[in-house]
Amino acid sequence: KEKLLEIKDLTIHYVTDDGTVRAVENMSLEIGKGETLGLVGETGAGKTTTALGIMQLIPNPPGKIISGEIIYEGENLIGKSPAELRKIRGNNISMIFQDPMTSLNPVMTVGEQIAEVIKLHQKVNATEAVLKAQEMLETVGIPGERHKEYPHQFSGGMRQRVVIAIALACNPNLLIADEPTTALDVTIQAQVLTLMKKLKEEFETSMIMITHDLGIVAEICDKVAIMYAGNVVEYTDVESLFTSPKHPYTIGLFNSIPNIEEDMEALQPIKGLMPDPTDLPSGCPFHPRCPKATAVCSERQPAPIEVAEGHFVSCHLFEK
Ligand code: SF4
Repeated sequence: KEKLLEIKDLTIHYVTDDGTVRAVENMSLEIGKGETLGLVGETGAGKTTTALGIMQLIPNPPGKIISGEIIYEGENLIGKSPAELRKIRGNNISMIFQDPMTSLNPVMTVGEQIAEVIKLHQKVNATEAVLKAQEMLETVGIPGERHKEYPHQFSGGMRQRVVIAIALACNPNLLIADEPTTALDVTIQAQVLTLMKKLKEEFETSMIMITHDLGIVAEICDKVAIMYAGNVVEYTDVESLFTSPKHPYTIGLFNSIPNIEEDMEALQPIKGLMPDPTDLPSGCPFHPRCPKATAVCSERQPAPIEVAEGHFVSCHLFEK
C-alpha cells in the first residue's frame, strides 16, 4: 500500500516535578492509504501521546518531542509553522476523542457545528452547508431533521456519532480515534464501531484506532502496534497478531481476556502493575512482570526484530 504516514524513531518526553516521563520511545510505524492501525496498550502506555504527537499538539512544556520524524505525505510535520500545521490538522488529519462532550459546543446546535466545519473546508454558502450538515448526520445514522437540536438532547452514542460527522466533514485522509467507544455502553459501542467500519470502506479514510480492547482491533484494524511503557513491543498485521502473537506482553494480554468458550478459571491476568513512568525498569521495561525474563532482560533493552515478514517483536527471546 502507498504510504500515508510514517513515524520514524519518535521519542516524546514530559518533564515534570517528579521526573522525566518517557512517554514514547524510539517509535517507528507506518500507515498506508486506506489502512487502519490499532494502537493498543494499557493506560499510560503512550497511545494518546503518540496521537497528540502526530497532531503536533503535545503541550510544551511539559512535553517535548526529543527526536524523530513524523512524515505525512512525504513531509516532516515536526518543525512546521503553527499556520501550516493548522491547515494540515483541519484538512488532512482529524481526531475523535473518548468523551464527545469535550469536542462539542453545548450552546450551538449540532447542525451549526457541522456546517461550520463544512464552511471552513469546502467552498459552499451557508444554505448549502446546512444541507450538507444534514446529509452528514444521515451518513452517521442520525435523522437529518435533528440538526436543530443541541448536544444535550442526544444520547452518549448519538453525540459520538455527531463528533464523527464533524471529523468526517473535513474529509480527512487520516482519522485518529482515541478510545472512541470507551465511554459508551456495549450495544452502542458495537453500533459506533460498525459505523466507523462502514465509513472506512466508503470514504477510504486511513485510521489510527487507539484502544485497550483487542476485540475492537479484530473488528476494524488491518495492522496493530502493541505498546508497553512508551515502547512498541510488537507490530504486525492483525492476522499474525491473533494467530501467532509473540511478545510475552501480547500473550499476557490475550490470556487476560475473558473467553466465553473457556472457563473463567483459565484467565491469567498479567501479574504486577504498570511501572512508574518516571522510573522505568532497566533493560526491557516489561522484565519485572515477564514470566520469560532472563538475566539479559534487566540489562539491555531489546531492539525490534523481524520474526516474519512485517512482524516485529522487541524481545530478547527472538534474538538469534
Ligand atoms: Fe520478557 Fe525479556 Fe522478552 Fe522483555 S525481553 S519481554 S523481559 S523475555
